[in-house]
Amino acid sequence: MLFSLPADASDVIYSCAVKEQKIALTFDDGPHPTYTDEILDILREYHVKATFFLVGENAEWYPEIVAREAREGHELGNHSYSHVDLKKADRAAVCREIDEAERAIWENFEYRPHLLRPPGGCYGDTLVKVAADRDYTLVCWSIDTRDWAHTPVDVIVKNVLDHAASGDILLFHDYIAGNSPTPDALRILIPKLLAQGYEFVTVSELMEGRRD
Ligand SMILES: [Zn+2]
Repeated sequence: MLFSLPADASDVIYSCAVKEQKIALTFDDGPHPTYTDEILDILREYHVKATFFLVGENAEWYPEIVAREAREGHELGNHSYSHVDLKKADRAAVCREIDEAERAIWENFEYRPHLLRPPGGCYGDTLVKVAADRDYTLVCWSIDTRDWAHTPVDVIVKNVLDHAASGDILLFHDYIAGNSPTPDALRILIPKLLAQGYEFVTVSELMEGRRD
């Protein structure tokens, strides 16, 4: 190609138009030494599958938690090695962040992620190109629960229940500094959404269920 088009929203998945009543829970920034296990316990209780976007250096600190995520059928995605802004980083740094996170996941678990969530949802032309070269799909979200801002549980629950629709990708975090509202919000939201008929799937499963 003689020229390159600027990055736009068509390069990135925010939600999927799906045939069935499916929705995807995603958890960024982990693994965390306590919250991730707590969240995994809740997901297991309801037989729910989710997608964890791992920070490479956290995966190296807590490999047994990543192993549990994979063993229990969750999808693992790449969230960079050290959680830098991949829109501001130069090409060499973008490549290093993606490749080092991938190495950390591959070496320990022989699991090659093919979803990439840029920290903060920030991306530009360089990241779009580097991700495409490596066969990654860039994934953002359609509902930000703002759990990262220590949003109260009842506010998170109301926001999700007011807005959730089939094909949505929900942004949560399993690594938050200080008290996390996320486990308590999930304990309320998961049974309510199941009762409404939603099936929780991984992001890759959501993409497979897209309407033609
Ligand atoms: Zn993040």
